[in-house]
Amino acid sequence: MNAVIPIKPAAGCADAPVLRERGQREVFCGLTGIIWLHRKIQDAFFLVVGSRTCAHLIQSAAGVMIFAEPRFATAIIDERDLAGLADAHEELDRVVKRLLERRPDIKMLFLVGSCPSEVIKLDLSTAAERLSKEFLHKVRILNYSGSGIETTFTQGEDACLTALVPQLPAAEKNAASSLMIVGTLPDVVEDQFARRFREMGITNLQFFPPRHSHALPAVGTNTQFLLAQPFLGETARALEGRGAQRLSAPFPFGVEGTTAWMQTAATAFGISKATFDQVTMPARERAQRALEKHRLQLEGKSIFFFPDSQLEIPLARFLSRELGMKLTEVGTPYLHRQHLAHELALLPETTRLSEGQDVDKQLDRCREAAPDIVVCGLGLANPLEAEGMTTKWAIELVFSPVHGYEQSADLAELFARPLVRRQKIVREAVCN
Ligand code: SF4
Repeated sequence: MNAVIPIKPAAGCADAPVLRERGQREVFCGLTGIIWLHRKIQDAFFLVVGSRTCAHLIQSAAGVMIFAEPRFATAIIDERDLAGLADAHEELDRVVKRLLERRPDIKMLFLVGSCPSEVIKLDLSTAAERLSKEFLHKVRILNYSGSGIETTFTQGEDACLTALVPQLPAAEKNAASSLMIVGTLPDVVEDQFARRFREMGITNLQFFPPRHSHALPAVGTNTQFLLAQPFLGETARALEGRGAQRLSAPFPFGVEGTTAWMQTAATAFGISKATFDQVTMPARERAQRALEKHRLQLEGKSIFFFPDSQLEIPLARFLSRELGMKLTEVGTPYLHRQHLAHELALLPETTRLSEGQDVDKQLDRCREAAPDIVVCGLGLANPLEAEGMTTKWAIELVFSPVHGYEQSADLAELFARPLVRRQKIVREAVCN
């Protein structure tokens, strides 16, 4: 069903109509988040309570783990469990005990729900509570759902961090204001941001999630937080429930987004414009220069986003404003108007926004728009390539370091590369 809700136009796409669709979706489930979360929290373990399909998904998405002691696994629910013949709780307790005996390095264990665990109504929060009591002072045991029924792709991280918020220590009432950066960032990117904020004079700085379970940041009414990812709606709500205040900003993609994001924190912490410029200007100028060659390749090219990671709107803003690309449709699985208010205001008014998916209808619109490049999930990329379209896998945009000044050109290149490759193929075909 398509429902176009007309709302009066305002700056950019701030109040633009959104095409809302509900139908067949082509999106990964929230288990995918384990791939980047297990790299970030270095003493955490993710135990998926699911089927062989779930095991396949995370094994194939994280194939590189064969070289290291893995920090995720699947407790397989088999036919006996599904038929209610075995006590799944007892079975789970056994698996957890065996795991923790074998791996004393695990300090935080997430029991991750899946479609099968939901179907048999396995209560993982009770299991986590029960096991927490048993392993008190040794391992923190938490649970969240990564099931495809409840979550898409990046919502797994939102669910994981939401489960962690109650575990954060309370900041002292009279503590100095602190800045919390919320959302998983690769360590290299985190270090760049930390260095710049500290150079500006924001020294009371914490990242969530932390690299180690013992370094959970304190939270309280003196905590101001900046979201580094646009898909953390529930996490933000949970932090606000603990008294923290969200700083509203665009997301740190590209030079413009990174500057506005950092500037928001600088303003909140009373940093002067002169200091802000002194700290950020060299990196801004370097990043702008690095973007120029990609602008030559991307300017005037049209792009269509299928909904996938919830990064679509900030990325579309970056591509249109800093690289001159034309936006046809920008689809997103969920549109959080409040968190994306700055981003929406920066999009050209002509952009068609869509939320949710009815994949066949969206494919028709995509074919009609005939964009130069399509951003979509793996399942759609091959058929669209076979139709002669150029595609970019959305999942790469989540797995690659793309935030901040130093990564702006790399982010642009992720879009330029498939276009250059396609041009070469067409040129070779013409020459032959
Ligand atoms: Fe498939 Fe559901 Fe398992 Fe995800 S959680 S891999 S959607 S069965």
